Amino acid sequence: MKPSAAPIYIIGAGISGLVAARTLEERGYAPVLLESAATPGGRVQTDSVGGVLFDRGFQVLLTAYPQAVKHLDFNKLNLHRFLPGALIFSEGRPERIGDPLRDLSSLVPTLTAKVGTLGDKWKIFRLSGRLKQKSVEEIFSTPEQTTLEYLQAYGFSRQLITTFFKPFFGGIFLEDALQTSSRMFEFTFKMFSEGYAALPASGIGAISRQLAAGLQKTSLSYGQQVQQVKSGFVVLNGGEERPSRATLITVPYDTETGMLQGSGVLWEGCDNLYFSVAKQTFEEGIIALVSDPDALVNNLHYPFGQQVEGNPVLSVTVVKKHSLDQRELIQKVREDLERCCGIQTKSFLKHYSIEKALPRRTDLKMELSRPESAVFENVFLAGDYLLNASLNAAMASGEAAAHALANALERA
Ligand SMILES: Cc1cc2nc3c(=O)[nH]c(=O)nc-3n(C[C@H](O)[C@H](O)[C@H](O)COP(=O)(O)OP(=O)(O)OC[C@H]3O[C@@H](n4cnc5c(N)ncnc54)[C@H](O)[C@@H]3O)c2cc1C
Repeated sequence: MKPSAAPIYIIGAGISGLVAARTLEERGYAPVLLESAATPGGRVQTDSVGGVLFDRGFQVLLTAYPQAVKHLDFNKLNLHRFLPGALIFSEGRPERIGDPLRDLSSLVPTLTAKVGTLGDKWKIFRLSGRLKQKSVEEIFSTPEQTTLEYLQAYGFSRQLITTFFKPFFGGIFLEDALQTSSRMFEFTFKMFSEGYAALPASGIGAISRQLAAGLQKTSLSYGQQVQQVKSGFVVLNGGEERPSRATLITVPYDTETGMLQGSGVLWEGCDNLYFSVAKQTFEEGIIALVSDPDALVNNLHYPFGQQVEGNPVLSVTVVKKHSLDQRELIQKVREDLERCCGIQTKSFLKHYSIEKALPRRTDLKMELSRPESAVFENVFLAGDYLLNASLNAAMASGEAAAHALANALERA
């Protein structure tokens, strides 16, 4: 086969691979997507069991993500919005902290909540206003510190950091020591201030399905585990070597050996457990946080419209590291829910243990730099792990790497 007649491969049909395929199609190419799993979406999946939807890990779409606005059809996703802010369970009591500028009903509870001082609440509004003025490019070029150092330097009280910022951003970063870069904090805070956290009516996996369904010229090939990629060929797990015109890899890649996965990327993980409850204790559309340092539970919510035999479903996320087996974990989570939130669970439904949820990195970026988008001749890299851990970064990296690939082919 002449090199120019060989396929363009994309390795991985996660969000970055799907957006890369879409971008290549727009540039006139018909790539082949090789995916090791049986479905598209990578880390963005929803399981339907007996008509009940279970997201594989609680994650939200922030509607202000510039890349999501560009690549997704929000109307067709039929988005349910979460209310701004959170319900915080502190010392056994629920306290509402919201954004009264957008959700007036949260004005009184926010001002009277015992979470943080009035000065803290004023600082939150000021920070939100300041970050609305700061561009995403500026955020990603500001020197980094840890989020904890940033919050302390901004003058937030230790109480607000412990009761609000640690559980709220700990649940987003999947680490509650807040060691994640201040760039990610500013970016996420800005996205929360300028839009909404939302979930498609049929679960987070609808995002993957929409992107995959929009592909017209791409061949999607599942159950294809790629082992190695170099200029001009890809090697499948069984050793089969296939010629390639160009390859775009969306998973961690060892640039020395050309092997996939051996790249030393570090990850944050979490557990996501689902229960049914006899009584729903707060509204759908509210994210509740547990600030008790002895609790394993980080956050909980009632997924929109999900019931099992007439009982509401509760989704619970554990971020803290632990060494409990599944039975012990379920027991501890049930105890936390009862002690900290006054919630009695009826039955345990599901548990996802997600070891590789978010790539951990410093020097967070918004855009791919040249050396990262081209490693060998006609081999290009994408994936959130190259930029920052978000749907926005996955999309941005897929789009940029696809353009770099198309430009290289058109220059040749
Ligand atoms: C629990 C959890 C919570 C999250 N919360 C949020 C959130 O609230 N907001 C947000 O914006 N983001 C969140 N994220 C992050 C977001 O989901 C990711 O940034 C994004 O999905 C990454 O997409 P990707 O394409 O870069 O990688 P992946 O989704 O990892 O895609 C890689 C694909 O490659 C396939 N693959 C791997 N190895 C091979 C191989 N050798 N050969 C062939 N195929 C292979 C995989 O099966 C996978 O489909 C969360 C993620 C998780 C798991």
